[in-house]
Amino acid sequence: MYKSKAYSAAGATSPLASDVINRREATDRDVQIEILYCGVCHSDLHTVRNEWSGVMPTVYPVVPGHEIVGRVTKVGTAVKKYKAGDLVGVGCLVDSDRSCPSCKDHQEQFCPSSTFTYNSPDKHLGGVTYGGYSESIVVDEHFVLAVPENLNLAGVAPLLCAGITTYSPIRRWGDIAGKKVGVVGLGGLGHMGVKFAKAFGAHVVVFTTSAGKKEDALRLGASEVIISRNPDEMKKHAGSFNFILDTVAAEHDINAYINMLGRGGNITLVGAPDKPLPLFAFSLLFGRRTLSGSLIGGIAETQEMLDFCGKHNITADVEVIPIQKINEAYERLVRSDVKYRFSIDMASLKSE
Ligand code: NAP
Ligand code: ZN
Repeated sequence: MYKSKAYSAAGATSPLASDVINRREATDRDVQIEILYCGVCHSDLHTVRNEWSGVMPTVYPVVPGHEIVGRVTKVGTAVKKYKAGDLVGVGCLVDSDRSCPSCKDHQEQFCPSSTFTYNSPDKHLGGVTYGGYSESIVVDEHFVLAVPENLNLAGVAPLLCAGITTYSPIRRWGDIAGKKVGVVGLGGLGHMGVKFAKAFGAHVVVFTTSAGKKEDALRLGASEVIISRNPDEMKKHAGSFNFILDTVAAEHDINAYINMLGRGGNITLVGAPDKPLPLFAFSLLFGRRTLSGSLIGGIAETQEMLDFCGKHNITADVEVIPIQKINEAYERLVRSDVKYRFSIDMASLKSE
């Protein structure tokens, strides 16, 4: 065991503050990583504030962070894929049973005993796992991703959650080239959804509550922008979409977006509001539309997404912050004031 500097929250109403945590020594199959950047996902905020208490109650202290990019500092004797100095990433998953049907299908995120990067039972040290708001992390090599060397590192970190969470449902929906694809909410996930949908040739339309994000939406790859608070703008597009990705983190009227779909269209929820969303059955019945959900992606698909980003030079648009600004960043996330992902420069932790 060794000590690592970190930022943790002691309770649902406590700010994140400097802390020191234990990390395990690398076992045979482990990779030890010095963390360079960690993205700030809205899930970090939901967890710190225990907003998902009904589904995944938070165990304190909590060290969030599941958008990790860093350099390998040490590997266990049985590790084959990585060596010291390699550039790697870690997303939302750090372990699974490797034998259940989901694991065999390369969908480790649905393994009944998967271990999430933070706030999951820690099989090695007891207590819960601690995430990437820290100097270093130790992870089984199967859950470590190879990161292309040609990309901006601060912008790579968010690919490990926001990237795969939007890439996976877009790929699963099939060939979207030339199709009308909507992205609801232009935050961390939403702006990656726009980039991927554009990269796969869709006609991308952003639904935003923030009129001030219009220019950025167009720059990021949208062909049209709808201010969702304006009923007239919404009405014009009713019944016209093939696929919509809903990334909204708070309560909102999904029926308004279902009504945007054409016959057989699909809306996939990736946003995870803490309260149930009322569903008007008629919105689905007319047009035989479907509503689905999607959770991050498997490890193989995450690697595929990173390789795709390396090839097409895709990263998140980030505002790099020192860890000392994290509480301010959370307040801004709540106000939808993010362009379009905060990425923590972990060198800032050294001064703590
Ligand atoms: P984020 O950066 O805060 O972006 C969310 C965006 O939703 C906001 O920027 C805002 O965009 C829009 N929005 C916020 N409140 C709204 C409201 N009341 N009505 C309509 N739109 C609203 O969050 P994120 O990190 O992208 O995460 C989004 C959600 O996905 C969170 O719930 C997170 O926990 C979840 N998530 C799920 C997965 C998964 O695997 N399914 C993975 C990661 C995250 P505009 O300003 O454009 O309106
Ligand atoms: Zn996330």
